[in-house]
Amino acid sequence: MDCIFCDIIEGRSEAEILFQNQNIISFLDIRPINYGHTLVITKKHYENFQSVPLDELHHLMKGLQFISSVVVKSVKADGFNLIVNSGKAAGQTIFHFHFHIIPRYNNDFRFKPDFKSYTQQSMKEYADIIRSELNKQKDSFL
Ligand code: 5GP
Ligand code: ZN
Repeated sequence: MDCIFCDIIEGRSEAEILFQNQNIISFLDIRPINYGHTLVITKKHYENFQSVPLDELHHLMKGLQFISSVVVKSVKADGFNLIVNSGKAAGQTIFHFHFHIIPRYNNDFRFKPDFKSYTQQSMKEYADIIRSELNKQKDSFL
């Protein structure tokens, strides 16, 4: 399988590795939004958020809490964004699941999505569509 992140894990491609343990590895993003922009990934290849088993997510979240606080302190950031792009439409370009830790500074820049607005009626309609799907699927969750 052709995966640049697996290549980094296996040592076939270079990266500025910051941290690794048995389950996760973390390295600098090659195209940082701010300096210190860090990726945290599972060592096993999972394509996207939906396909990562819960125990792997647990390891990842534990690593994220630790690494994000260390990154923020190291680059003297005022805050950080945790981002997951899931699917091409959402901007995912590498299909090996990962979190972005993006250090942020007061007034550095704004993410500017084109916010929409609901009417009272359409907000209820969207909620009904999602609630109805949740109701259909909830037995597989509980
Ligand atoms: P995505 O767009 O899939 O959420 O994020 C993929 C990220 O991986 C991008 O921010 C991109 O800059 C980073 N990236 C892609 N190729 C490489 C690489 O070879 N090395 C490193 N360190 N980062 C990479
Ligand atoms: Zn991979």
